[in-house]
Amino acid sequence: MDIACSSCGALHWMVEKLSDSSKRNLRFGTCCMDGKVQLPPLQPPPEPLQRLLTSNDADAVAFREVGWKYNRAFSFTSLGVSEDRTVNEGFRWGPPVFRICGDLCHRSGALTTEGEIKCYAQLWVLEPRAALEARMDNNIDLDQDVMHGLQTMLGEHHQYVSLCF
Ligand SMILES: [Zn+2]
Repeated sequence: MDIACSSCGALHWMVEKLSDSSKRNLRFGTCCMDGKVQLPPLQPPPEPLQRLLTSNDADAVAFREVGWKYNRAFSFTSLGVSEDRTVNEGFRWGPPVFRICGDLCHRSGALTTEGEIKCYAQLWVLEPRAALEARMDNNIDLDQDVMHGLQTMLGEHHQYVSLCF
């Protein structure tokens, strides 16, 4: 995947070129339909995410090391699968394989939060201070200021979060 579309810059493999494309004029259809589709440029993410992704501040560097934990803390659902872990047994080289058995679903849990660990979509119906406390209870190793900033940002910018209030 090292050949850039001359129209949009998307990276492709050679086998993805259009059949009527030539070696001197490589053209691709799966990205921009050979320049026929033009999307507006991506907007930078809102703050504080932009700073966390680009800054060399200590909290930003730490955020990038465990960004997946913050992502999990703010997710609406969890993945529900029966995973076949035997496929990776004795496998030492290459990336691990993710193979599932049966159906794949998203688990959101009940929206009631009484008497159980609060997580996923349940946290989005709590008032913000209680949601932040629950997220920190579930992720004691994460930075509370970062968590608070991201929660506020999502409340202001995420289209689904605004549906919860
Ligand atoms: Zn393209």
